[in-house]
Amino acid sequence: MTDTFSLPPGAAEPHLPVAARALARLRTVPALAPRYAGVSGTVGTLDELAALPPLLKDDLNVALAHLEPRAGTGATWLFQSGGSTGAPKVGYAPTGFYMAGVHAHWQPLDRDDTFVNAWGAGRMWGAHFLAAALADLAGCRVIALGSVTREEYGDWLGFLADRRVTAIGGTPSVLRLWFAHARSAGLELPALRKVLWLGEAWQPQLAEDIAAVAPQARRWGMFGSTETWVVATNTPDCPADTFHPLPEHLVHVGPDGALDFTTLNPEMLNPVLRYRTGDAGELTTCPCGRPGRAMRVLGRRDSVVQVRGLGLHVDELVARAEREPGVSRAQVVITENGGRATGVDVLVLTGRGVAVDTDRLRAELFSATFTLSTAFQHDPENLRVRAVDELVSNDRTGKTAGFVVRAADQEAS
Ligand SMILES: [Zn+2]
Repeated sequence: MTDTFSLPPGAAEPHLPVAARALARLRTVPALAPRYAGVSGTVGTLDELAALPPLLKDDLNVALAHLEPRAGTGATWLFQSGGSTGAPKVGYAPTGFYMAGVHAHWQPLDRDDTFVNAWGAGRMWGAHFLAAALADLAGCRVIALGSVTREEYGDWLGFLADRRVTAIGGTPSVLRLWFAHARSAGLELPALRKVLWLGEAWQPQLAEDIAAVAPQARRWGMFGSTETWVVATNTPDCPADTFHPLPEHLVHVGPDGALDFTTLNPEMLNPVLRYRTGDAGELTTCPCGRPGRAMRVLGRRDSVVQVRGLGLHVDELVARAEREPGVSRAQVVITENGGRATGVDVLVLTGRGVAVDTDRLRAELFSATFTLSTAFQHDPENLRVRAVDELVSNDRTGKTAGFVVRAADQEAS
């Protein structure tokens, strides 16, 4: 069974009493009791852990509403996840956001850095605050920028260049805006060495803009969720989709390739016990040479959406559209009316002054995608490909999901 778990390097036996305690807490939740009724009350071994039912987002939300956790000391923070592709969920964390355990194993920042924290602050999104906690531990200078509007990028970039900033962190979607603005304005950040990211998959197109704006800068990634907090990290020597799990977390890969996470940190307020984030992945050896098992993230399992009763592989559609010359990013917007898809829009973000033949791309996507050609057989005009200046983003987190579902009355012109 250990072959499906990431064990901390050097640890023969993980510290499972924390998992047992999480199980005991989950068993007190009336709505979840039937699910745990048939399982042993102890979690002494990895085999027993793997035999537990996985915990889904909705389950954890139900559990937290019942448990209402409180930190042993200091404040209890409430954060919210979801919103792009699902209903919002609440998660809890103590002050510090477990970042001491992250910092003990991963130090992208040091005392000499001037770090721009560009994760949005407020609106119950946790990334800005955990990055601030990491900066506290590193003892660096911090510029707490948060999110800025489109018109402000130019002025702020000038300020950041003057301050000789050495590090910036944000979601890849937001980082793309920063670097694309800098590049198109001919601005450089020559002192920048580090780009921290968290919240979405890395976007390969970012590397091109970073190379033009800050040739010395390298990416440092964190992987996690509002429920698990940071579970794994990587360095510039690791592939962007490969992360090293921290010793305070166990990563498990199910037979269907779904990843689940179990915390070994006794301070963790959320009962993270075989918690599924919706990501698929595999355990692997990282080419960076660090010992122990790394986790390769293979995208989201919930990227197949139902369109008129057929499964549409959104990731494949987005990837095909992004292979089109001139397209820097693509997004699928599904419009629904009373639960039925009335239309699918493929939005393509194009570079400045670049023309993309959307009619040809539309014809190709239509004929090459079984779900689309079948679902829209009688109303093909409801599959559209549109060139846009901006994709649909979550205002709260700055994340740009691969697909967005909206109600027919929200349809933009
Ligand atoms: Zn590595």
